Amino acid sequence: MHIDYLRVSVTDRCNLRCIYCHCLDDCDFIDRREILRFEEIRRIVRLFAECGIRKVRLTGGEPLIRRDVIELIRGLAAVSNIEDLALTTNGVLLEQMAEQLKAAGLMRVNVSLDSVQRENYKRITGFDLLGKVMTGIRKAIEVGLSPVRINAIILRGVNELDVGSLAELSMEMPVAVRFIEYCPTHKGAVPEEFFVPNSQVRRSIEDRFGRLAAAVVPNSNGPAVYFKIRGGAGSVGFISGRTKVFCQSCNRLRLTSDGKVMPCLYSANSYDLKGLIRGGAGDEQILALLKKIIVEKRGYTRLNSFTEEFSMRNVGG
Ligand code: SAM
Repeated sequence: MHIDYLRVSVTDRCNLRCIYCHCLDDCDFIDRREILRFEEIRRIVRLFAECGIRKVRLTGGEPLIRRDVIELIRGLAAVSNIEDLALTTNGVLLEQMAEQLKAAGLMRVNVSLDSVQRENYKRITGFDLLGKVMTGIRKAIEVGLSPVRINAIILRGVNELDVGSLAELSMEMPVAVRFIEYCPTHKGAVPEEFFVPNSQVRRSIEDRFGRLAAAVVPNSNGPAVYFKIRGGAGSVGFISGRTKVFCQSCNRLRLTSDGKVMPCLYSANSYDLKGLIRGGAGDEQILALLKKIIVEKRGYTRLNSFTEEFSMRNVGG
C-alpha cells in the first residue's frame, strides 16, 4: 500500500463536549507547551512530503479553535507536493471562517454531525448549536470547500432515530453523509451496548428510502463505501472500522497534537517526533525515522500492536 495520507491533530481542546469523545469530568488536557507549534507541524509535513505524503487532514480536538489556524493552513498549502489539504470540524465556527479557510488554501471539509434534531444535538454535544452548524455547512458549500462530507456516529438509544433525517441531508444538498462505526477507546464514555453496526444503519436507510445504489464520489479512495439514495443530490457512505478490518488498504498515518506519529489509530507503538525536533535533530535524522515508520506501516495489521488506550481528541478522530 502506498502511504500518502497524514492526519494531524492540531489541538486536543474542543468547543463541544460530545458524550462519546470527552471524559465526563473533563480532566486531562495536554499542557500547552507539549502541543506542537506551527513551525514544528510545518516542518514535519514538509519532511513527510519528501517521503511520499500527498494528502494532509487537520483535525483534533477542534482545529478551528486553534488560534491562527488560518496561518497554519496557509503555510501547509505552500508545502511542495501536498496535493490535498482538508480539515475535519464540528462546524460551529465554519460560517465565520469558511471564506478565510478557502482563501488560505484549504480544499475541503468534513463536518461531524450526529443529529439534525435540535434537542438531540444538544444532548449529544452539550451545546444548543445545531443552527450554527447547519449554516456553516451551507457556507462551506457556497465558498467551494468541495466536496463537503458530513460524518455521523450512531449510538443505540442516543441517535438511532436520527439516521433517516441525517441521510436525508444528502437528498437536498450535494454532500456525502457518512456513517462511521463507533470505536471503543478507554476515555470514551460509551459502553459496549451502545454500539450500532453499519449493517443496521444501512437497513434503516433502505427501509425509509428504498434500495441504495452504489455510487462513485470524488476523493473516495479511503475506507468509505458510497451509495446514492434515489433522486438525491449527494450520497451516503459507510465507514465500518469495527465490523470490517481494512488494514491492508489503509494509507494513513497520524500525528498527535503532542507530536507523536502513530502508524494506526490502534497502535500501541508511537514515535516521539517532538522529542527529536526539540532535541535539535536535523532533517536527515528525522527523515530516517519517517521512512522507518512508513515501512512499518506497510506491514501493519491490528495483530502487530493493538490498544484501545487512547484519547480520540489527542490522536485526532
Ligand atoms: N472536532 C472535530 C470534529 O468534531 O469533527 C475533529 C475531531 S473529532 C474527534 C473527529 C471525529 O471523530 C468526529 O466525527 C467524532 O464523531 C469522531 N469520534 C470521536 N470519538 C470517536 C470514537 N470513539 N469512535 C469513532 N469516531 C469518533
